[in-house]
Amino acid sequence: MGDQRAHTFNFNAGPSALPTEVLEEVREHLVDFQGHGLSIMEMSHRGKVYEDVHDQAIRDLRELMQISDDYEVLFLQGGASLQFAMLPMNFLAKDRQAGYLLTGSWSEKAEEEARRFGKTRIAASTREENYQRVPTLQEIVYDEADAYLHVTSNNTIYGTQWATLPEGNGTPLIADMSSDILSRPVDVSKFAMIYAGAQKNLGPSGVTVVIARKDFLLHAAQDVPTMLRYETHAKSRSLYNTPPTFGIYVLSLVLQWAKRQGGVDGLAHSNSEKAALIYDAIDQSEGFYRGHAAKESRSLMNITFRLPTPELEKAFVARSVQEGFLGLAGHRSVGGCRASTYNAVPHAACVALRDLLRDFAQKNG
Ligand SMILES: *Cc1c(COP(=O)(O)O)cnc(C)c1O
Repeated sequence: MGDQRAHTFNFNAGPSALPTEVLEEVREHLVDFQGHGLSIMEMSHRGKVYEDVHDQAIRDLRELMQISDDYEVLFLQGGASLQFAMLPMNFLAKDRQAGYLLTGSWSEKAEEEARRFGKTRIAASTREENYQRVPTLQEIVYDEADAYLHVTSNNTIYGTQWATLPEGNGTPLIADMSSDILSRPVDVSKFAMIYAGAQKNLGPSGVTVVIARKDFLLHAAQDVPTMLRYETHAKSRSLYNTPPTFGIYVLSLVLQWAKRQGGVDGLAHSNSEKAALIYDAIDQSEGFYRGHAAKESRSLMNITFRLPTPELEKAFVARSVQEGFLGLAGHRSVGGCRASTYNAVPHAACVALRDLLRDFAQKNG
């Protein structure tokens, strides 16, 4: 590992920090995987060595998220963005409607994509409020005619998160958990399907995790191309064609690392401590920093904030880069600053950011 890593605080929004332990393990086995004389990247996906890694990753995710046998765990490709289309292709017929909760850019994209296939309905939206909060549970309008109700559990760009996830109330509930999967306990049994691109909390980009209830999958359309049918992948344990073997291998190491951190409960505890360090610095700055999110909707994964002027924001980001902080500029669409504090971001990095925030405010406030 280059020396520089020890002096770097990675707050990138995605792809984002991976545990150093995991990367060191990858390096150790990169050229000669467990004494087999070749890299795992060079092995058949139909061989026992790879299949063991693959199956263990599925078992570990089941264990970590307490996923019952009523659910399939799939490893797909195409990112969360392909799920925006694959979901309606399979579950939204032309003459049907689906409900979408609009809470930010990603949920807008998901809803737009669904409109190519059927009708959509906005079950609640905070767009008029510049997505500073997620709707209250009371604001959600249910409709029995919905084929499903789609929610984005954490809004990566705006920095908001559902503190309590909505219920389906009889409608199959689908969640895009790309930016907070495995960061806190979730009752999987409340969802018909959960999906997440791996590159925020689970591993490298290139793998998309889908957790889907078997009886929900039975309702899928039959006229969808083979690779875009959930059933294809469910029937073959995600080995219908060549899966992203290296990505799944790294993901498997991240899951083992997550177990060593005390599982989802341990990670959730650490994540709330990490986020509190930074939110406290924002709240104690006497208005120098202003959080974008309303307090009750604050994300524990993506902390968005502004400084008094765009010039100060630039100066803050410039100084942060000099001191080894990466990824603190906000998303191009919303500006300001953002710190992504995913599972693998160490507590010490958040302490360092808190200190930087305090010092910068003191010198420039
Ligand atoms: C990053 C992100 C996406 C897009 O993921 P890709 O894997 O790049 O397609 C979708 N939804 C949410 C909530 C995200 O954070």
